[in-house]
Amino acid sequence: MTAIGFIGLGNMGAPMAANLVKAGHQVVGYDLVPAAVAALAAAGGRAAASAAEAVEAGDIVITMLPAGPQVREVYLGNGGVLGRARKGALLIDCSTIDVDTARVVAVAAREAGFDMLDAPVSGGTAGAAAATLTIMVGGEQAAFARGEPVLKAMGQNIVHTGPSGNGQAVKICNNMMLAVSMIGVCEALTLGQKLGLNAQTLFDVTSKSSGQSWALTTYCPVPGPVPSSPANRDYAPGFTAAMMLKDLRLAQQAAGAAAAPTPLGATAAALFQMLVDEGAGALDFSAIYRFIDKSRAKI
Ligand code: NAD
Repeated sequence: MTAIGFIGLGNMGAPMAANLVKAGHQVVGYDLVPAAVAALAAAGGRAAASAAEAVEAGDIVITMLPAGPQVREVYLGNGGVLGRARKGALLIDCSTIDVDTARVVAVAAREAGFDMLDAPVSGGTAGAAAATLTIMVGGEQAAFARGEPVLKAMGQNIVHTGPSGNGQAVKICNNMMLAVSMIGVCEALTLGQKLGLNAQTLFDVTSKSSGQSWALTTYCPVPGPVPSSPANRDYAPGFTAAMMLKDLRLAQQAAGAAAAPTPLGATAAALFQMLVDEGAGALDFSAIYRFIDKSRAKI
């Protein structure tokens, strides 16, 4: 049993924290949204009245926040994690953020005497609920060894990818792949239906053919073929279009800095920008289907 402080109990953080409780850990959680904190308490964790209270309660502190600015604020801000954590605590940030912020916060943590891991995740809310996430981890080998048993309560594939920031680098590559493949699935399903096929027939064949992908078989953007996909609940997230746009921007920034050619990544970023500009940022990212097939219901 490990004492864990957990900050950020949103779509992903809530089920991840609940799985830590199920695995027998003592979890003290905090979120800006009181209902999220109450839900953790109902799942067997302990509610904290502030981020500081959660941090002080943990030998390990885990954060699952929206983006880089929140991670900087929660770790480096006045009364933040680095000022409040227990001596020798291990700090693990599971949010998806820019590589620079991950490295800046890790250096500050080391200077303050703490080991830190960046440990972004893949697998969506279903993977978070089932504790089957893939977790890509950047940081020192010894810190990874300390964190791995706890990460295993939230995920299935825990991979040490190298020094601080490397977990984030893998993550933005993964999400750029996902965005591009989701758009490809949406275009093909739209084309097929316009050619007179029904979505289920298209799905039955392509999910067993070389067009197969996670975007199609786990997260099918058309209602029907995959009952658990957000398309069947009017695109309630899941993983929001705004979050996907954030990750595509991170990928584009990184691609610019590394002079890596990413024409499809750039197109995906432009399409998600348009989707978000139409007011669909809070929908699941698979709502890009309704944007691509304009004959579908309004976004
Ligand atoms: P979310 O918006 O549902 O959750 C974030 C939570 O952080 C919210 O509950 C918010 O209230 C809380 N928060 C924000 N600032 C805070 C602060 N200063 N102190 C305490 N709490 C604060 O987002 P999510 O979907 O859970 O995603 C979290 C991270 O995981 C993001 O970086 C996202 O890119 C990444 N991610 C999401 C998914 C997914 O499918 N949703 C999958 C993989 C990775």
